[in-house]
Amino acid sequence: MSSHLETNVNERCPDEPSAANVPTMHGVNDVASPTEGVGPIVDLFGIRFDALRMPQVLDRLLGWVDEARQSETSQGESENKPTRYVVTPNVDHAVLFQSRGDLREAYETAALVVADGRPVVHASRWLRRPLPECVPGSDLVPALFKAVNESQRSLRVYLLGAAEGVAERAKTQIEQRWPHVEVVGCYSPPIGFEKDATLNESILARVNESNPDVLVVGLGAPKQELWTARHCRSISAPVTLCVGATIDFLAGERRRAPRWIRRLSLEWVHRMMEEPRRLVPRYAKDLWVFPQLIMRQWWLNLRGNRPWSPT
Ligand code: UDP
Repeated sequence: MSSHLETNVNERCPDEPSAANVPTMHGVNDVASPTEGVGPIVDLFGIRFDALRMPQVLDRLLGWVDEARQSETSQGESENKPTRYVVTPNVDHAVLFQSRGDLREAYETAALVVADGRPVVHASRWLRRPLPECVPGSDLVPALFKAVNESQRSLRVYLLGAAEGVAERAKTQIEQRWPHVEVVGCYSPPIGFEKDATLNESILARVNESNPDVLVVGLGAPKQELWTARHCRSISAPVTLCVGATIDFLAGERRRAPRWIRRLSLEWVHRMMEEPRRLVPRYAKDLWVFPQLIMRQWWLNLRGNRPWSPT
């Protein structure tokens, strides 16, 4: 990718002007907002989505990587800036978001919030708060690697998450498929690691010593969002992507649903059939709660776009 479609940065780190402070009009806050650099925002179920298409998201990510490299060259070493992290809410996250204050806080300091999953995008259109397209984490990461490879750039990546050995297999696959991407490190933390302060320090030290441009965090939701938000000031990578099972998909450990199933917005059915024990109870709850969120948003729209408040 040689040119950047968007040069402005939508940064939502603490202490900075935040999209969260910008009022929305009919759920959509367009570029002409008082906060410089904040792009169009769609407010849906209380989540402030960045209304961006995949190429625009890629452009932002590569812009942030370039910016960090430039500041490293001009200042000798990189400034201690918090990482810009990306979250990709799907139906399940939208449901979790209602009852988890900690997840809402983690979303507030995310640099980008993009929709993962067609049901969220369909709902946004039906509610006349349209999101331009769905940008799932498991598509975003390979698309980023492809863009880097095709433009003959270079990208240093660290993989954090997935079961033991899976991230190493993902590294082999990534470097074979996209030779311009270098996986500079990978680590699969043990269950419960997030509660162990010493282990967290050593994980952050490992990541930072490898000096990645992009940290890929695949710990499942909401763990990956909470962990990244908690440590965003200690992560030296300019970009962090919270992307669920993406490391599994890259390693070939799990398969995405065939394209025709994805086009029918039924990827969740495919995933549920692969992991019924874990996912049937989750999706049963989502099927019950998500339509209620849609109806509530519809009702708020009808009453003059009243603001959403968590349940
Ligand atoms: N995972 C992990 N450590 C944990 C919990 C999960 O590395 O403590 C990994 C798991 O191995 C898998 C991913 O997180 O690779 C879960 O991704 P998925 O999108 O299925 O999670 P979800 O958000 O749907 O629960």
